[in-house]
Amino acid sequence: MDSSLKRIKRELFPHVPERISGLVDLSYNLWWTWTTEAKMLFKQLNRHAWIESIHNPVRMLRDLPEELLNAKAESPQYLRHYDSVIERFTRYLHSGGTWFSEEYKGGKKYHIAYFSAEYGLHHSLPFYAGGLGFLAGDHLKESSDLGVPMMAAGFMYGQGYLHQHIRADGWQEDVTETLDREAAPVTRVPVDGTEQVIFKIPFINPPIHVAVWKVAVGRVPLYLMDTDIAQNDPSNRSIFLRLYTGDTEWRLKQEFVLGAGGCMMLHRLGLEPSILHLNEGHTAFALLERIRRQVGEGEPPEKVLQEVRRTSIFTTHTPVQAGHDRFPSSLVERFFSDYYPQLGLDRQDFLKLGADPMNRDVFNMTALAMRLCDFRNAVSREHAHVTRRMWRPLFSVNSEADVPIGHVDNGVHLPTWLASHIEYLLEGYIGRFHPCWIEYHDSPLMWELVKEIPEKDLWLIHQSLKRQLFNRIREYKRWRWTERRADPMNIVAGGILLDPNALTIGFARRFTSYKRADLIFSDLERLKRMLNSRWRPIQIIFAGKAHPDDQEGKRIIQRIYQYAERPDFGGRIAFVEDYGEQIAQYLVHGVDVWLNTPVRELEASGTSGMKAGMNGVLHLSVPTGWWLEGYDGENGWVIADGEKERGGKSEAESLYDLLEREIIPLYYNVSEDGIPHLWIKKMKQAMASISPRFSARRMMKDYVRNYYIPALSSIKLR
Ligand SMILES: *Cc1c(COP(=O)(O)O)cnc(C)c1O
Repeated sequence: MDSSLKRIKRELFPHVPERISGLVDLSYNLWWTWTTEAKMLFKQLNRHAWIESIHNPVRMLRDLPEELLNAKAESPQYLRHYDSVIERFTRYLHSGGTWFSEEYKGGKKYHIAYFSAEYGLHHSLPFYAGGLGFLAGDHLKESSDLGVPMMAAGFMYGQGYLHQHIRADGWQEDVTETLDREAAPVTRVPVDGTEQVIFKIPFINPPIHVAVWKVAVGRVPLYLMDTDIAQNDPSNRSIFLRLYTGDTEWRLKQEFVLGAGGCMMLHRLGLEPSILHLNEGHTAFALLERIRRQVGEGEPPEKVLQEVRRTSIFTTHTPVQAGHDRFPSSLVERFFSDYYPQLGLDRQDFLKLGADPMNRDVFNMTALAMRLCDFRNAVSREHAHVTRRMWRPLFSVNSEADVPIGHVDNGVHLPTWLASHIEYLLEGYIGRFHPCWIEYHDSPLMWELVKEIPEKDLWLIHQSLKRQLFNRIREYKRWRWTERRADPMNIVAGGILLDPNALTIGFARRFTSYKRADLIFSDLERLKRMLNSRWRPIQIIFAGKAHPDDQEGKRIIQRIYQYAERPDFGGRIAFVEDYGEQIAQYLVHGVDVWLNTPVRELEASGTSGMKAGMNGVLHLSVPTGWWLEGYDGENGWVIADGEKERGGKSEAESLYDLLEREIIPLYYNVSEDGIPHLWIKKMKQAMASISPRFSARRMMKDYVRNYYIPALSSIKLR
């Protein structure tokens, strides 16, 4: 066993009896988060403590009294369950037979290093702001399941992302909380008999010291850099307190530490990845550090550049120019003045590597990554078109179609996002013919068996997931009411009046203007008629944070929140505070319709609709991002294109028409058995069509086949 886990057991968990001390190992490996039986094992210790810990087993185990644990260690029933989960966990970690090892014999001796500024894994690790983070988190979970030899690098944000409280007037307050490292599934990475690796990053004045932590994501280690340590001068301590804050110079420093520092960290740990996979431009300095190391070993710079290109993969997620990281060239030149000579480059060639195609005085991180990676991809078909158009000036090609940027459609980790009740149901209908069906969940044919599920069974489960969502909303408000003396209007706006029988629409994502959370408020009278309909009401649940500096995003939240407080909206608009991984789970399991109304082409893919679709929640979206490929005519709805200028309907009108003419009638078209059969047929179509195709499993296999293996073969050829 890992020596730091041994120490943790001794120091933090002396009260956990030996017989069930595997619970500690389990709680420090995120495998439990996507394995229902393991989750149940924690829940069975004590339901109340489980809820109180907000589903965080590290915290729960730390706080549980010894007597209770002793009793469990003597309960034959609990022990049977415990032994079976631990056996499965051990087999998962140590058995060699995985998809990757079967497909690519010998591939295991190479390692892929994944770099990302965010990871969305579990809400006890608040290292994410939104979709980019969850994509990275799901990438690691799926790599683990498939046995892809992956390791990952990122930041230990001491305060994570902001927490959100909404004031009585609807304005978002950004609340920071300090991460309790002893109540999170992170361990110090030990080295040479010391408790934790601490290494120094030169080239920065004063130099930065970084302590290394590890998160175990199944078989995949995620190494996190922590600068909030005594060795650092105060200005450097706070570099990674929070995500995406600070001025330009500060960000440059952050990104240097993320990319270059991340590579130094892996090297310090004795890990030498063969391939780099960079998630978004923030991480691109990793490429420079790779070059520096190889040039330092005496390789000719030209050859090194070529090798780095052939073994590096870059994934871009941002279809908006302003979303790409840029720095003034003069700042970069100053910052890197001791560094670039070690790359074997002169000043001009160095700055050329990152030169923005539109403005030579700007150093552009995406351009840097595009120039130094032979493998470049966007994350949906539409996004690939936009990306090729955007970056064409970087390549000497005759047409946009020749721009060497491909795409891998995003996907989501099914075992993480599928509700366990739905999983049990599928076990009966798919598992009957395909034992171990979850191992093959990217196979579309198998999913046709979903159509055999009796409509009533699926409906009952959906209703119970909906009730769970409403309970979660009510319990949170009860807590705010009692602990924080929240204003009664805040309780109303938070969703306390929601009706479990009404058609419920969910809208949850970052609040930023292009996502247009307020599109559905374009015609207030028309909306109110639907909300307040006596026999066929609808209700809408909103959730999401605005970036602390995004005043427009905060104004949209305020507007919606104020509608939610108004009696003429019937208590049928709710705003759920502090959107994060846990609320996302409840929402994508428990609403009826998932609404998505971004401005076309500004959303690279979108992933929350995939999570909803796998659970039979129907997607109602403008035709953009993944939905252009995901919509099959039966599995949800498309909000027709807005061509108002040409006399067509606006998107808002089209949205209202769809709701009034199709969606509401279909939902309330209930047979004598009390069940909306046609609606449920659509739910099944959504589950069958979306789950295999938009799973992270399909996505990872695409990355392996189209990028990792070709990149690896360039090494083997040498
Ligand atoms: C999936 C997810 C996102 C990303 O959703 P989009 O549809 O891509 O905006 C953001 N936040 C959380 C908590 C999520 O689970």
